[in-house]
Amino acid sequence: MIIQRVVLNSRPGKNGVPVAENFRLEQSTVADTIQAGQVRVRTLYLSVDPYMRCRMNEDTGSDYLLPWQLSEVADGGGIGIVEESKHSNLAKGDFVTSFNWPWQTVAILDGSLLQKLVPQLVNGHLSHFLGAAGITGLTALLGVREKGHVAVGANQTMVVSGAAGACGSLAGQIGRLEGCSRVVGIAGTDEKCTILVQEMGFDAAINYKKGNVAEQLRELCPGGVDVYFDNVGGDISDTVISQRNQNSHIILCGQISQYNKDVPYPPPLPPDIEKIRKERNITRERFLVLNYMDKQEASVLQLCQWIQEGKLKARETVVEGLANIGAAFQSMMNGGNIGKQIVSVSK
Ligand code: NAP
Repeated sequence: MIIQRVVLNSRPGKNGVPVAENFRLEQSTVADTIQAGQVRVRTLYLSVDPYMRCRMNEDTGSDYLLPWQLSEVADGGGIGIVEESKHSNLAKGDFVTSFNWPWQTVAILDGSLLQKLVPQLVNGHLSHFLGAAGITGLTALLGVREKGHVAVGANQTMVVSGAAGACGSLAGQIGRLEGCSRVVGIAGTDEKCTILVQEMGFDAAINYKKGNVAEQLRELCPGGVDVYFDNVGGDISDTVISQRNQNSHIILCGQISQYNKDVPYPPPLPPDIEKIRKERNITRERFLVLNYMDKQEASVLQLCQWIQEGKLKARETVVEGLANIGAAFQSMMNGGNIGKQIVSVSK
């Protein structure tokens, strides 16, 4: 059977900015018949995420991420529908997902590596299983719960960087649901800031590309910052850390501003900021959602319940067509997305 797939065409280099041309669409084939234990799936949705930038390097710099190989099919979070099954737990018409879904229109996969999805849990909005009800939502929820030290009634102020992105937009809402009394976002456009306040219930949002972030933070967080959900690192985070309260907590989710640089993870803070962090006893422990997979099931149910109740607003930026996945990745890395960046493959 003839299929379309996307392979890694070239590496951007450790310090390079990734572009759509780093990926290549090509024709390929899959076998006409499947073996015992296998399923043939048609891809419906693929996820593009910042961690993929590390997979574009020959050495990802982390022990849990494998590099993509040149001229080989890329992979990541995906959802598809089973078209034929020789696996006892899966049947034609089932919706399934995997963290290692190949970027191709049709694939033959090992059924035991797939998770079956229940569309009713997300009101039929399947792609939420890659976003608000998937690894993104889990990252936001478990980041807040495991590293945020958020307590109901403690009158805490939370600041979120990368706030209009996939994790950030959920993290701010979850911070509020879990008990923060004030939530302030930092994002890259006025449109994103308006959406954060008007749609997602943030108290305020700062466009970091305009005006003085430190001054605006002082104004918007008069009691200081108790919880910081950090998606970006770099200058923005240094500014936030300077305004942290004593004994406060950083949820070290990601450091996207550093991903095109050859630096260790997590990148060390500049000496003056590290001094502030130590003096104020601010925690900055590494957080990796994959370390909490024992909490996955209960946490996904919590996220789905909030989505169904309308308490968690889940935005998506959807790009149509496998051919456009490289462009979608490039756009997301440059701030082109609001909420979760999804690629719809079925059309
Ligand atoms: P995302 O926020 O949806 O997309 C990236 C956003 O980051 C862009 O839209 C852009 O928005 C912003 N950005 C890009 N370059 C920037 C820069 N130099 N400075 C400031 N902002 C920049 O991505 P996501 O999926 O939610 O991931 C957010 C972070 O969480 C990433 O660092 C990712 O690696 C991390 N993550 C960690 C875990 C974990 O287990 N710890 C799991 C998932 C994701 P603007 O317009 O606002 O600039």
